[in-house]
Amino acid sequence: MIFDMVTVGMVMTNCYLIADEANNVGIVVDPGAEPDRIMEMVNKAGVKIKYIVLTHGHYDHCGAMEEIKKRTGCNTVIVHREDEAVLEDPESNSSPWIAGRRLSYKADKLVEDGDIIKVGDIDITVKHTPGHTVGGISLIFDNKCVCGDALFAGSVGRTDLKTGSMDDLHYSLDKVFKKLPDEMEVWPGHGPSSTIGREKKVNPYMK
Ligand SMILES: [Zn+2]
Ligand SMILES: [Zn+2]
Repeated sequence: MIFDMVTVGMVMTNCYLIADEANNVGIVVDPGAEPDRIMEMVNKAGVKIKYIVLTHGHYDHCGAMEEIKKRTGCNTVIVHREDEAVLEDPESNSSPWIAGRRLSYKADKLVEDGDIIKVGDIDITVKHTPGHTVGGISLIFDNKCVCGDALFAGSVGRTDLKTGSMDDLHYSLDKVFKKLPDEMEVWPGHGPSSTIGREKKVNPYMK
């Protein structure tokens, strides 16, 4: 398996590549900005991109998705069904504040909690982790959790944006993140990686 990351754009979004090199297939998660640098990562892996997966619909996670679709030939963007509207609505996707323009994006395939995204021999389990947005997801595979802006090393995502909810975030923390194994790696949408065990010790929201 190839697991790679590049940090892109003004708000330093972590864009991930998850690939099964034996089967020549991969996915790009959260292509927020800087398509050239994302394509460098994709080309280094040398795999065909099957899906673009968004952990949630905010502009800093999807800003380069049209360009990456064009350049890779991938025509399937996946988002949780409850974030489809977040992606489409400029007031919800934060584009006016981050890009200075009202932008709207369309998903091609909707997923929900418990769905499996197949990438060659890699099975990626979708967990619904709302709070930062109503349809935020985390991707679980191979002792890793790619969690978008729900959980950060030492902190959590803000809940004051449109569709955000502290109650929802507590559901995600209590029913999802705290139940993952301590040794599982946490790969957030911004900032450094961590582990579930470490977050249980140091993150006030995980206590
Ligand atoms: Zn966000
Ligand atoms: Zn973000």
